[in-house]
Amino acid sequence: MQALERYDVVCIGGAVVGSAAAYFLSENADFDGSILVVEPDSSYENAQTTRAQNSIREQFSKPVNIRISQFGMEFINNFHANVEVKGESPLINFRGTGYLFLSEQQDHLDVLASDAVLQQAEGAAVRMLDPAQVSTEFPYLNTETLLGARMGSLSEGSFDGWALLQGLRQRAEHNGVTYLADRVADLTVAGGQVTEVHLESGVRVACGAVVNAAGSRAKLIADMAGLGLPVEPRARTSFVFDCPTPIDYNVPLTVTPEGVHFRREQNHYMTGAVPVEDEAVEYDDLDVRRDEFDELIWPVLAKYVPQFDRVKVVTSWGGQYAYNTLDHNLVIGPGSEVSNLYFANGFSGHGLQQAPAVGRGVAELITYGQYRTIDMTSLGYERIVSKSPFTENVVI
Ligand SMILES: Cc1cc2nc3c(=O)[nH]c(=O)nc-3n(C[C@H](O)[C@H](O)[C@H](O)COP(=O)(O)OP(=O)(O)OC[C@H]3O[C@@H](n4cnc5c(N)ncnc54)[C@H](O)[C@@H]3O)c2cc1C
Repeated sequence: MQALERYDVVCIGGAVVGSAAAYFLSENADFDGSILVVEPDSSYENAQTTRAQNSIREQFSKPVNIRISQFGMEFINNFHANVEVKGESPLINFRGTGYLFLSEQQDHLDVLASDAVLQQAEGAAVRMLDPAQVSTEFPYLNTETLLGARMGSLSEGSFDGWALLQGLRQRAEHNGVTYLADRVADLTVAGGQVTEVHLESGVRVACGAVVNAAGSRAKLIADMAGLGLPVEPRARTSFVFDCPTPIDYNVPLTVTPEGVHFRREQNHYMTGAVPVEDEAVEYDDLDVRRDEFDELIWPVLAKYVPQFDRVKVVTSWGGQYAYNTLDHNLVIGPGSEVSNLYFANGFSGHGLQQAPAVGRGVAELITYGQYRTIDMTSLGYERIVSKSPFTENVVI
């Protein structure tokens, strides 16, 4: 057993969420403690962060999620100033396209419309469109079956998720945060606190606070502390395809009623869908579900975009959502019975855009014992204990 070191904060996982927490703590003048980020995979090859589709939107059904993503947009807009080190920063490459939600059922359209009111109240410039307006704005779409749609503003769009992670990490390291290539194997809990973090290498680290930023493996960390966490890995395959007749209009991130989504990705198009059998998979399962494209996605693409009748998949990759089975919403804040273990988990497919606000929120909780900016109390761990869902309906 190697010597016991001590850090004020230990982040378990150093991809986008762990790095965001480390970044905001180390940027906060009121926090002067030491920060260790334990991350076994410095290539991030298997992290969700490098397997995402890198989009950001304001169109959520819960005001708190709208505010969280709006801060994400602000952070991305000021990315260089936020993360620069010696005048350099990674290129975030934001492209504003909006998100377009299509509807062909009246009850679904009613939900889109009532959520639009809620989103507008939060300052989101969303618009309801009738089929004729959809046709005018997006003439490549077949609107025959549509009853209407909801379109977001161009402050929604896509960006380079790798750059977001690298920018946060580089600046955090510049600020004095230590990244250690190791894996957390166990936790010692005594008196309602995590007192030690045990690493695979045999090193033990004493700690003030611990942040669970282990992505789809978050439940394994919660288990080590004896806490329940309803977060499981769910397979999601991404496909990039070519179309021989390119579309000369904006192709927003378009979500069909069947649960298929697509958008332009430079000279190609990117797509994915909710699998028909959406169940927990093994933690290491990053397999591509190739059949999904042919059986589930392609027919839907061709239904709404006749040009997509002829397409060719050029690349694909497997990924996992860290899926919160209680309410498809993130869990942030301390565990009730282990009060220095902070959750930042269960993003259910929107954690890249939420990372800046969540990192800042975790930093506020650790530094001040309360939120100072966005109040995310409704997303806390208490609802997990009491099994009281706080459901986000707009999960893509
Ligand atoms: C197909 C797909 C599309 C997506 N599209 C979007 C999108 O368009 N917009 C959006 O906002 N989000 C999207 N997401 C979700 C987003 O990728 C995730 O929510 C986000 O990356 C989560 O970041 P994270 O840091 O929590 O987890 P991860 O990136 O998975 O990182 C977790 C890290 O924890 C480390 N770790 C695990 N166990 C341990 C341990 N025991 N000890 C130490 N370290 C450990 C891992 O090595 C890993 O690096 C998508 C996800 C997928 C799969």
